Amino acid sequence: MGNTGPGNSESTLTLTTPIQYLPGIGPARAAKLRKLGLRIARDFLFLFPRNHTFPPPPTRVADLQEGEPATFIGTITDAELISRTPGKSLFAAIVENESGAVRIVFFNQPFRAEQLTFDTRVRISGSPKLAGLRWEFTHPNYEIIQEDELQEQDDGGLILANYPLTEGIKQSDLRRLARPLIEELAGQLPEVLPERLRRDAAERLKRTGMELPDALPEIGESLRGIHLPESEADLRAAQTRLVFQELLVMQLALAMRRRSLTSELRAPSLECSATVRNRILRRFPFDLTGDQRRVMDVIAADMARQYPMNRLLQGDVGSGKTVVAIFAMLVAVAGGYQATLMAPTEVLARQHHATLTKMLADSRVRIGLLCGSLTAAERRDTIAKIKSGELDLIIGTQALVYGVQFHQLGLCVIDEQHKFGVKQRVTLRDGGIDPHYLVMSATPIPRSVAMTQFGDVDLSTLREKPAGRGAVHTYLAGDSWRDRWWTFVRQRVAEGRQAFVVAPRVGPEVEAADEELSELVDATEPPAEDITSVHATYEKLRTGPLKDLRVGLLHGRMASDEKQRVMELFAEGELDVLVSTTVIEVGIDVPNATVMAILGGNRFGLAQLHQLRGRVSRGKHAGHVCVFVDGDGPPEEDERLKVFEQTLDGFELAEADYRLRGPGDVLGQRQSGGAKLRIADLHRDMEILQVAREMAQDWIDRDPEMESEGLELLKSQVLRRYGNHLDLGDGA
Ligand code: ADP
Ligand code: MG
Repeated sequence: MGNTGPGNSESTLTLTTPIQYLPGIGPARAAKLRKLGLRIARDFLFLFPRNHTFPPPPTRVADLQEGEPATFIGTITDAELISRTPGKSLFAAIVENESGAVRIVFFNQPFRAEQLTFDTRVRISGSPKLAGLRWEFTHPNYEIIQEDELQEQDDGGLILANYPLTEGIKQSDLRRLARPLIEELAGQLPEVLPERLRRDAAERLKRTGMELPDALPEIGESLRGIHLPESEADLRAAQTRLVFQELLVMQLALAMRRRSLTSELRAPSLECSATVRNRILRRFPFDLTGDQRRVMDVIAADMARQYPMNRLLQGDVGSGKTVVAIFAMLVAVAGGYQATLMAPTEVLARQHHATLTKMLADSRVRIGLLCGSLTAAERRDTIAKIKSGELDLIIGTQALVYGVQFHQLGLCVIDEQHKFGVKQRVTLRDGGIDPHYLVMSATPIPRSVAMTQFGDVDLSTLREKPAGRGAVHTYLAGDSWRDRWWTFVRQRVAEGRQAFVVAPRVGPEVEAADEELSELVDATEPPAEDITSVHATYEKLRTGPLKDLRVGLLHGRMASDEKQRVMELFAEGELDVLVSTTVIEVGIDVPNATVMAILGGNRFGLAQLHQLRGRVSRGKHAGHVCVFVDGDGPPEEDERLKVFEQTLDGFELAEADYRLRGPGDVLGQRQSGGAKLRIADLHRDMEILQVAREMAQDWIDRDPEMESEGLELLKSQVLRRYGNHLDLGDGA
């Protein structure tokens, strides 16, 4: 490759040289390279290697073995021509590296003394033997390692980049291209990250334990470091800089977007005085957890601002999100505004309505319920009262509450929102100001997703569980366990507990897709055997193993007043066993129910299983969940179910799920507000993402338009990459 090296006076390479004129390319290869997105020379610089191949580590002294061929690399720290006598000359030297020292000896080759001088780096190979306490190589092969050897060498000792390939293009084609392009062009790229920013980033990243230079390397240096790394440290610094830049650009876009939303929208400023706060907290019949208090403070601060709160509250099932929501709603009501709490299902809406009605029985707060089972007249009446301001708190299903006109809505709480980032806005009167939003979810979002998809949403988490919760035991079982399980259920019921039986699907009797099930159960699933349909299970249990118990049936296709009646019977302890579809997944709160069988458990997702399990860990009694798997039991490879059995923490489960399914599934191309990431890996680069996010937020808080000196290029990169995705104005 010498003929294309630097200093070649014929070279007229520029960043915009078409790829086909690059050394050794030509039209045919150029056409293939276009499939990799390469059109001009500059594109190659940003064709990031998928990974790198590291040379095997040099042998360490401790690994040497008598008579075994070995290669040892080190520096000569002592060299002596012990005897010059012709025919009896002896030259010996000590070669040392971090692992220790070895001796090399040559007989009758005095000229070696001229090459193997003090401080020379050498690579020696041969078969050592132990001479006293030291390993000795007699007449080894050796190579002097030149200062610039790393520059010259093609492989062997070098870290090699592995590029993405396409048909007809070999790894060596791309590797050959790297050196001349980097050497001639990398220095010509404009620097987007001013030095103070690269220093700041390095400082923050070092605090997370990363080993880095004092400033992240410049762009040219980074591109050389990723394509032609000289050492691991070199590669790491280069990669960190490039990943950081990509994530910083993304986070700046998200911070700018958040900023523009907050500066355009207006919301009522709802101050919460200490008196109001204490009056609200006195209503809760238990001590709040530290997390609940902390989140309430944050929410109170959000609601006092003049722009809408946009907060996602995530917390494992049973972590007590509802209490936090009630606090926020009462802050709004105390400030003279209405608040609404929307639930995904009618059952849940009614449950919230009952909880609130009980808790606020002796107050002046007027509570309304808006759901499908109201008569037309009731509904008209409720809607009119919402509009005239005769109701303060409105609980309802999402379907109905969206679209209703409020008198003066200060806060909108959306419960059990599973889909990330999907949020409808409530209907506002002409020129009305926006309410604050609080979205609650029990499906923990992996941190990486939260920081990208939710870049413009603030995130709070309840991790701490309220005290006094019973433990939950999880079992995985095959069909043969069923009889034993029903015996166990009868015993628990005899002790006064209640049980759930969850079936994955409604029976053939109910053909049409259940609206609450359709998104939960895979439609491509082959028709299940009778055993897993909720109807068949109900019939079988009622007339068979549980015939002396009071068994109820609940599924999403039932009329809503019927559903409601069954739920109430179960909640009041009038039913011992509830056979149900996943309708009970969301939010149902019956602390006395401690036993649950999940049939066809292999057909549920991890998050869903976890939600279900949350139903039986709400009281003081220990919960028991048995996941039945179709057939004889969980197949060995079902790691998902094993993880479920062993992990109770919803956040750990979410991370595991994310890991098992692979990032593609969760993030795919939708990641990062639409633009595709080229070098960052949100899972691997979590720490860098966190730092990029902090820096972007600090920056945009201080300088919302990115007008300070030296940021012009960075700003235009943000707009070019994200301008369209995020409505940030024209993609300059
Ligand atoms: P989720 O986060 O799943 O929506 P909920 O808000 O329904 O949880 O709370 C679950 C149960 O825990 C409810 O019965 C609620 O009254 C109770 N609870 C909430 N906070 C506390 C607390 N700090 N101490 C004791 N019990 C609590
Ligand atoms: Mg809840």
